[in-house]
Amino acid sequence: MHIAVVIHDRCQFKKCNYECRTYCPPVRMGIDTVVITEKGYPKIIEELCEGCGICVHKCPFEAVKIIGLPEELNENLIHQYGENGFRIYRLPRVQKDKVVGILGPNGIGKSTAIKILSGNLIPNLGNYIETPSWDRVVDFFSGTEMADYFAKLRDGEFSTVVKPQYVDKIPIVFKGKVRELLKSADKQGQLDEIAAMLEIVNTLNRDVDKISGGELQSVAIAAALLKDGDVYFFDEPSSYLDIYQRLSVAKVIKSLASKKIVFVVEHDLAIMDFIADAIHIMYGSEGAYGIVANVRNTRNAINAYLEGYLKDENIRFRDWKIEFIMHPPKRKSELPVLISWSAISKKYTGFQLDVYPGEIRTGEVVGVVGSNATGKTTFVKILAGVIKADSGEVNSEIKVSYKPQYIKTDYDGTVEELLNMTLKEKMLNNFYRAEVLHPLRLKYIYNKEVKNLSGGEMQRLAIAISLGLDADLYLLDEPSAYLDSNERMVAAKVIRRYMENLGRSAMIVDHDVYFIDIIADSIMVFSGEPGKHGIAEGPFSMREGMNMFLKNVNITFRRDGETNRPRINKPDSYNDREQKSKGEYYYA
Ligand code: ADP
Ligand code: ADP
Ligand code: MG
Ligand code: MG
Repeated sequence: MHIAVVIHDRCQFKKCNYECRTYCPPVRMGIDTVVITEKGYPKIIEELCEGCGICVHKCPFEAVKIIGLPEELNENLIHQYGENGFRIYRLPRVQKDKVVGILGPNGIGKSTAIKILSGNLIPNLGNYIETPSWDRVVDFFSGTEMADYFAKLRDGEFSTVVKPQYVDKIPIVFKGKVRELLKSADKQGQLDEIAAMLEIVNTLNRDVDKISGGELQSVAIAAALLKDGDVYFFDEPSSYLDIYQRLSVAKVIKSLASKKIVFVVEHDLAIMDFIADAIHIMYGSEGAYGIVANVRNTRNAINAYLEGYLKDENIRFRDWKIEFIMHPPKRKSELPVLISWSAISKKYTGFQLDVYPGEIRTGEVVGVVGSNATGKTTFVKILAGVIKADSGEVNSEIKVSYKPQYIKTDYDGTVEELLNMTLKEKMLNNFYRAEVLHPLRLKYIYNKEVKNLSGGEMQRLAIAISLGLDADLYLLDEPSAYLDSNERMVAAKVIRRYMENLGRSAMIVDHDVYFIDIIADSIMVFSGEPGKHGIAEGPFSMREGMNMFLKNVNITFRRDGETNRPRINKPDSYNDREQKSKGEYYYA
């Protein structure tokens, strides 16, 4: 069996000559395998398509996918978004007393799975012509536990609660104070308790459209927790949160699973590892189809993910392994100093940042960690020369390339045009093409309008541009935001190799511990009182810095015996207590 997918947000029929149709061998023989719809998109009639794949290669916008799939899979088709649309095969299993994780790349159908399991989308089982019905779904699953689940959903015996993926959209649909928003969700009078647990008490009296992304995420999670449901779904709960907040959220979600059914989609692997009791990996072809793999225990699932290979399914999705080193890297203290700063301070109304003196060496990658609102972005902006410190100075005359945390652009044109305009002859540089553009998969979005990019696509573009500019120091503020776990690991390696090969320096702010672990030679730690007073120290060696940072947030990591990857210890477990008493929070 082969499926034909036309990815509409890549298809630009106004700019092409319908190569998918013109070059199609059956069409040339007079068979209408590819027809043009009223809207202008091509439609590939699967029954007539021979699967030669010529259209795939001829399409200038990489908008067509023809994919051969095992025949049996057809019986597992759960939903298809229209003709030539995305398909999802199989569903995650509903399990009581467990947090079930769903792990997979962007565009593979995780949110679709959640929409179906939460009852917000009646799956059409591949029949996208007729109106779908729950009766048919229950029938389809008859004899399995899923039939029971969907019957309960249909009959209103189960209520479901979803923490949606895109929290940025909340201010568009809700106007008013945070407290009012939460009050309407508070069915059990737990508002104060949950607000305290998620540390949003000070946010309650603020307007929903005036709070930060991190606050919005916490509010959305609080709203979900306050509702009284039987099944809970948390779609990407860690976005915008710092590690300390990620962990508090993880703890709350975990505790929910003792009485409820809980599903979580998450890209921060350290958090996913901590939060989930079992994981369904999803694989397939992004934008075309997604298959939900059998459930695995959390440790095996994440190890398989890092390995890049799913043994049971015989699927390789990355051609290299992600590895972690057990021992902290040596600080590159023999290298010359590239940039140094004296004690620096910067004041905003209600906030003060104090930075201890520090330096970055040539060829060094400095990770930056710390809670939200402790001044990380402010400091990076000072180094980038975007803002001035009130006192103290930065000592150097170097060229800096800066990727801001919040990427804004009003550029009117395609990704390729923007790259050519900004990077010019660098675009012809083989090393840059092979080491940056290729692994970040920029080719697939070349023809997209910059203003239509998804969050992850925009981030990949912004990373590529900042690395493409010639500089001595690269400052990247939260590059893992919006990236899926695989893209994060790829981006970390791309940035690291780039600095290593060119002997350049970088400073990378991020909350994803695996990302920081892969990328950094040394580490700067921000602490203090969020929103009031930030204190910045370092760079330190990885051991010293991680100990200091994790002590602040009260988290210890042990190592996985097989892969050496760091795993968050259960609070107050034997390892946790033992490591805290020795002061070894990370490299135990
Ligand atoms: P994930 O959450 O894994 O990133 P989604 O479930 O959001 O993936 O989307 C999977 C695919 O389905 C994407 O390619 C998306 O474009 C497509 N898709 C999602 N919703 C719709 C829809 N309402 N109509 C058509 N296609 C959709
Ligand atoms: P981080 O990057 O660690 O989250 P930021 O440097 O963005 O922290 O912000 C630190 C604090 O300074 C926050 O409380 C923020 O609201 C405040 N702040 C940042 N920029 C400004 C500004 N231009 N004017 C006033 N306050 C600001
Ligand atoms: Mg999603
Ligand atoms: Mg910031």
